Amino acid sequence: MNSATPLLEVEGLRKSFAGVHAVDNMSFSVAHNTITGVIGPNGSGKSTTIDCISGFQRPNAGRIRLDGRDITRLTPQKIAKAGLIRTFQTVHIYEAMTLRENLLQAARPFQASGWVADFLRLPGMRREVDAAMVRADELVDMIGLRKYYDAPTRILSYGQKKLVALAAGLMPKPRLLVLDEPVAGVNPTRIREIEEVILNLHAAGESFIIVEHNVEFVMRLCERVIVFVGGSKMTEGDPKSVQQDARVLEAYLGI
Ligand code: ADP
Ligand code: MG
Repeated sequence: MNSATPLLEVEGLRKSFAGVHAVDNMSFSVAHNTITGVIGPNGSGKSTTIDCISGFQRPNAGRIRLDGRDITRLTPQKIAKAGLIRTFQTVHIYEAMTLRENLLQAARPFQASGWVADFLRLPGMRREVDAAMVRADELVDMIGLRKYYDAPTRILSYGQKKLVALAAGLMPKPRLLVLDEPVAGVNPTRIREIEEVILNLHAAGESFIIVEHNVEFVMRLCERVIVFVGGSKMTEGDPKSVQQDARVLEAYLGI
């Protein structure tokens, strides 16, 4: 795709639950190699939008394109293979497995050869496994958790588990990683660490959408911020202009 094509385009998205629009007429786009923030009051449609773009909910109307390719209504697995991966607010990792195993496991659904090839140790599979090991090795350093590489992830703190989920999401080298509340419930020191990690990953070429309640975190990290209110986009812009927008203050503070 040429660079003028947005990485993600959401056009006229609508999702209703029992006739009530959770998301309506939602349109926005995200450029390549950016960190885009999504903020908005509770119930403004952030999670529903993410669920729709990652295939976990089926929209009632609208179009979603990833790098120009229509991904509307594909399954989460197909969307992930197309290059859009999301993390969840609650950490989804395998606590009994080591950090290394978690990362290698995260790459498996994206490996072309299946378990039969794996079992037979076919050469194509070896190459994929080797590539996954190299990737895991890079990522464990990026998240600063090498000393826990072979420890079961259950011993990690909540913030560290969030980092493991983030690294697992990056294992298959997605074009876009969507983080749902990456610092919710994380202590302030750890929040700074997660911030550093995301900035370093961004410098290494990764693109993110960050959905967060923590507005300051979003404002520090994101070059572009989209504000959702009542299931639609209210405004968007750079952090400064969004922070100074009277309508945003009103939506948050009711003033
Ligand atoms: P946010 O993530 O911004 O807090 P949500 O996307 O979770 O907002 O919710 C938007 C609206 O849709 C809310 O009014 C919520 O109650 C409603 N909603 C979300 N998911 C469901 C569902 N599965 N069933 C019914 N209503 C839902
Ligand atoms: Mg939500």
